[in-house]
Amino acid sequence: MATDIEIARATRLRPIAEIAARAGIPADALEPYGRYKAKVGLDFVRSVEDRPEGALVLVTGINPTPAGEGKTTTTIGLGDALNALGQRTLICLREPSLGPCFGLKGGATGGGRAQVAPMEEINLHFTGDFHAITAANNLLAAMVDNHLYWGNELGLDPRRITWRRAIDMNDRALRSIVTSLGGAANGFPREDGFDITVASEVMAVFCLARDFDDLRDRLGRMVVGTRRDGSMVRASDLKADGAMAALLRDALQPNLVQTLEGSPALVHGGPFANIAHGCNSLQATRLGMRLADIVVTEAGFGADLGGEKFLDIKCRVEKIAPSCAVVVATLRALKMHGGVAKSALGREDPAAVARGVVNLVRHVENMGKFGLPVLVALNRFTSDTDAEIAVVQEAMARLGTQAYLCTHWSDGAAGATDLARAVLERIGAHTARYHPLYPDEMKLAEKIRTIAREIYRAADVSLPPAVVKKLAAWEAAGFGHVPVCIAKTQYSFSADPTQLGAPEGHVLPVRDVRLSAGAGFVVAICGDIMTMPGLPRVPAAEAISLSADGLIDGLF
Ligand code: ADP
Ligand code: MG
Repeated sequence: MATDIEIARATRLRPIAEIAARAGIPADALEPYGRYKAKVGLDFVRSVEDRPEGALVLVTGINPTPAGEGKTTTTIGLGDALNALGQRTLICLREPSLGPCFGLKGGATGGGRAQVAPMEEINLHFTGDFHAITAANNLLAAMVDNHLYWGNELGLDPRRITWRRAIDMNDRALRSIVTSLGGAANGFPREDGFDITVASEVMAVFCLARDFDDLRDRLGRMVVGTRRDGSMVRASDLKADGAMAALLRDALQPNLVQTLEGSPALVHGGPFANIAHGCNSLQATRLGMRLADIVVTEAGFGADLGGEKFLDIKCRVEKIAPSCAVVVATLRALKMHGGVAKSALGREDPAAVARGVVNLVRHVENMGKFGLPVLVALNRFTSDTDAEIAVVQEAMARLGTQAYLCTHWSDGAAGATDLARAVLERIGAHTARYHPLYPDEMKLAEKIRTIAREIYRAADVSLPPAVVKKLAAWEAAGFGHVPVCIAKTQYSFSADPTQLGAPEGHVLPVRDVRLSAGAGFVVAICGDIMTMPGLPRVPAAEAISLSADGLIDGLF
């Protein structure tokens, strides 16, 4: 079979206005970025605010392995299949980050016959949103150091500045740095560091903002550091919020693109799910729900991270209630959870599937804890055998649900028809009773413990005294009601990436906590996870190239 980029390139795309018309967006509401991408004007977004909202379907997955799972691919395949069945369906996805694109994972536009296009453009600069978010983040950083330089009227303690710089790149060299070296003209040297843009609070604020006013207010509430007495200094104290919002004006408009089968897709915002809250912008989701009967959306990584955060942060804060959850799994990944090495995945091994299926079982149980009906999409690889498939189907039947075999990667919409019919049936049955996992009133430490126990099945959490102190200070300052966003490895239910399958009884080590006062959550950093990833020994960037006639190769 051809590579993702070859399939995408061989597909004739339709002009974006045609796709917009399918989605019910008039041509004069579009701001085209070339022929196949457009932003949807916020005037139009506002004009449909009072429309009734369609159903929301969450696509999530098992803990990822190097074998690949295919959530984005399944989100697109399911959306295409629902459209093919005559349902007005919109797909909502995150924008890809350059970090994984050049690192290990590759692009994030789906695969095979289930892709959004133009894939090179979406995966690289797209409509510039991430550049705008990076610029807004770094404007605030520049204004912090400038404030120190010109006399520090606000009394910021230079040792307690928490605002970090950002870049959309995996670059471990920037994790911890010293700024302002080289003499008095360059300011006051201090320790600083970079986060990858997709982990920055500006990204989270961008994705949760309701409108321009809410965007500016949230930016203004962001804390940059504290004074010696512990009181907080905010972006609004530095008068940075207005200019940051101005930098983000165009970016806040959702991006419209198409799938290879011509379904409309909104691709907007893109926080990582391990070190951030992991789902596309609220602007895009809400717009989609007002335009379509069904919105299919993906949350990043496993249901323990992206799925939990989608339900406990985005849905809670914005009071949106999904109709069902689809958990994506592959037999290859389940075999890895059952202890098989990547090099041996080609061999039939139903016993390994039976050992590894515990991972899928737990994610299905967990999604049920939010009151949602749960379906399983078994994303089929050509090497999968009937005996292996039967193991998963039996395990799901024992749980009271069903695994649907999907071949949209090779067959497009037709390969996800069974799954689409099952989703339609669940939406029609109105059995979803969505509720978040924990109440707003619960203490912050107890919220972390609840997620650890209920979702990760940990015995407990370990909270160093400094963490306990920070949480208490934030509760005293009025932040006790916010949800928590756990930063943890995506590979395991535990904080140890080597513990595959369904570990239990472990202790979740909370290393640090950060307040995202603008986004409205507390980030709990667990284990060795970094908010600035590094590149692997052989980065994907080494295989990417540009031909003499301008074709990009090696993106996947
Ligand atoms: P996720 O969203 O879970 O990270 P993606 O949908 O981005 O996963 O898929 C990851 C990679 O796996 C993509 O390159 C895609 O082409 C490939 N892939 C997905 N499904 C299949 C399949 N059924 N057979 C072969 N390759 C697949
Ligand atoms: Mg994905």
